[in-house]
Amino acid sequence: MILLDGKKLSKEIKKEIKEEVDSYLSKKMRAPKLVTVLVGDDKASQSYVRSKIKSCGEVGFLSENYNLPENTKEEELLDLISKLNEDSTVDGFIVQLPLPKHIDEEKVLLSIDPTKDVDGFHPYNIGKLLLGIETFTSATPLGILEMLKRYNIKTESKDIAVIGRSNIVGKPIGIALVQKMYPGNASVSYYHSYTKDLKNKLLRADIIIAAIGKAKFVTEDMVKEGAVIIDVGMNSVYDESLGKSKLVGDVDFENVKSKVDYITPVPGGVGLMTVASLMLNTLKSYKLRNGIY
Ligand code: NAP
Repeated sequence: MILLDGKKLSKEIKKEIKEEVDSYLSKKMRAPKLVTVLVGDDKASQSYVRSKIKSCGEVGFLSENYNLPENTKEEELLDLISKLNEDSTVDGFIVQLPLPKHIDEEKVLLSIDPTKDVDGFHPYNIGKLLLGIETFTSATPLGILEMLKRYNIKTESKDIAVIGRSNIVGKPIGIALVQKMYPGNASVSYYHSYTKDLKNKLLRADIIIAAIGKAKFVTEDMVKEGAVIIDVGMNSVYDESLGKSKLVGDVDFENVKSKVDYITPVPGGVGLMTVASLMLNTLKSYKLRNGIY
């Protein structure tokens, strides 16, 4: 079994980005800039935003965070987005989800300039992904693609099972892997809560991507020998022996690992790749803006 080491890979990617940014700075160009917008005080969202800002520092990007109160009006958020869309020093920005209930998430998403949508959530960018046109692939799927690429995992002609059909993980990773390119050229099947006989379907899969949100859902008896397992799940579970909560994936890692060829750990797998991919998307936007591509 080979561990798909997100910690090592994300470090490698960030190092490459930093070297590239340094080369632009040495030519007296400005640094890339990512802006984060957080509404409310959701603890998990605060921690995601902190890690994004920290990563910006590590790769030499400028960053700015707008921390808006929970009762921010939708118009106020839309005004800020409009300002960020216009600001030529901003290469990309993200509006951290979920938003408070009184704000229409779809309206907010649609108001973001697709050329600054480094999260890759805008329908324009999802549409480009579907058509196989170069775009901002959303960060978690992009992280998975980078992982497959950097470990030289073959996807061509493989049967890939994607469990989960969210707009941010399940749907886009399946769309990406069906494209005529590498990683891609795979036969992708989507599974969700209405899927019948999931176990037998998973047993036929060469690669399983689990994005469900249920701790240790995929067990040893559901995977075939030699499969590749990508665990996207991040579930906080109370551990009696530790006396505190710990992060657990959607895959029963301890029991599945001996049966498969490759597997991602949680933590230390896809999560770290997600943040590194956001940096890759921001760099891509910067390069497009500066005519470097
Ligand atoms: P989501 O929007 O809640 O989607 C979960 C999906 O799982 C849904 O499509 C659901 O089916 C499916 N599902 C639920 N129960 C199922 C079952 N018994 N059998 C088969 N499918 C089932 O979740 P998400 O946003 O994609 O996130 C999934 C997990 O990934 C979460 O743990 C999240 O924290 C984690 N995540 C991690 C990263 C990262 O960077 N590592 C990024 C994003 C998310 P229905 O559509 O039928 O309801």
